[in-house]
Amino acid sequence: MQVRNPKARKGRAMDVIEEVRKSVSRLCAEFPNEYWRELDAGRGYPREFVRALTDAGFLATLIPEAYGGSGLGLMAAGVILEEIARSGGHPGACHAQMYTMGTLLRHGSEAQKQAYLPQIADGRLRLQAFGVTEPAAGTDTTSIATFAEKRDGRYVINGQKVWISRAEHSDLLLLLARTTPRNEVARKTEGLSVFLVDIREALGNGLTIRPIETMMNHHTTEMFFDDLEVSEDALVGEEGKGFRYILDGMNAERILIAFECIGDAKFFIERATNYANDRQVFGGPIGQNQGIQFPIARAYADMRAAELMTHEAARRFDTGEHCGAEANMAKLLASEVSWRAGDTCLQTHGGYGFAKAFDIERKLRETRLYQVAPVSTNLILAYLGEHVLGLPRSF
Ligand SMILES: Cc1cc2nc3c(=O)[nH]c(=O)nc-3n(C[C@H](O)[C@H](O)[C@H](O)COP(=O)(O)OP(=O)(O)OC[C@H]3O[C@@H](n4cnc5c(N)ncnc54)[C@H](O)[C@@H]3O)c2cc1C
Repeated sequence: MQVRNPKARKGRAMDVIEEVRKSVSRLCAEFPNEYWRELDAGRGYPREFVRALTDAGFLATLIPEAYGGSGLGLMAAGVILEEIARSGGHPGACHAQMYTMGTLLRHGSEAQKQAYLPQIADGRLRLQAFGVTEPAAGTDTTSIATFAEKRDGRYVINGQKVWISRAEHSDLLLLLARTTPRNEVARKTEGLSVFLVDIREALGNGLTIRPIETMMNHHTTEMFFDDLEVSEDALVGEEGKGFRYILDGMNAERILIAFECIGDAKFFIERATNYANDRQVFGGPIGQNQGIQFPIARAYADMRAAELMTHEAARRFDTGEHCGAEANMAKLLASEVSWRAGDTCLQTHGGYGFAKAFDIERKLRETRLYQVAPVSTNLILAYLGEHVLGLPRSF
């Protein structure tokens, strides 16, 4: 049915998104907090959960219908990740398939889209690894040293990446490498290229992956490239334009992470509220004390404000409007509120907040990452200072 009235069309789109939210919530109920707790204790990967999410089509939300996905857009994708986090799960195990998609959709060739997207949509292929960060370059992405040299119709890749998450649980890697040395380009943002690397073929043939243990169960790794050969067809878009392609995808990534943080904040606020109502100390519920009640109320107000910014950023992204400022502000506000809500939730639980069986300490460890990755708070503030307020560039 075609809906001509724009208000009715918007209403229908929101109905679809609310349906998606309910379906994801039902699916998450089959993977209770014990499931995530055990994975966290054993550093396991949620294979069954990711399989169920894929089979239900949720990880193909951003893939257009023509390639086997549902093409529902970023708002729907965000709501899926939010719902996983709200249920007590850890969307970090599978979110990259959502945020790497934009680069492939916008800049991949038709042949690449035909070859990969239907297989990603139905779960035969996993695109869960995104390789940008390097040990020496850090946040200064244009300083990366991993180099892809063109030789006899192939690219030979040498270098090292760090913090590349899910590489051991992905078939494909979207990789950023230099193809022209930095001192040979007019602008440092030029001469970088994006490749779609088949990890299954590369492993043992020039690619080594080494896991890094972290404070939460995030499956992150170091990657070493030693004369790894990939075909010319692995290049995404034009050689030398990769930095722009990656930047394009970063707004999507920031908005999706903001949704996850909103989900975490909702988890903490709900848990804190329930406990504050139930726990009796000094003959009454602890929630009657303003010292307990007000921080929860404050976290709720802050979460709702961050949620509004996140929805505005997603709406702009989905309608093709500029969304750089909103995407950055959403990520900044949501990552801070999820941490504060978690701290409040832990304080509300007293000693029990530290018990693994309550899942609060686990979720607090998981949500802390988002003030650092995929971009740290300082870098967001620098973006707002320079690009929104017109203050002098600091680096
Ligand atoms: C668990 C985990 C998973 C990750 N997954 C991935 C992944 O899948 N793929 C990937 O490519 N990367 C990934 N990352 C990397 C992540 O994006 C980076 O850690 C993050 O961008 C910060 O970079 P850095 O660690 O090199 O910090 P640095 O750049 O060394 O910065 C250190 C600190 O200095 C501050 N700082 C730096 N420059 C300035 C400045 N000019 N002004 C003010 N402050 C500044 C930063 O804000 C930060 O707090 C992951 C990281 C972690 C920890």
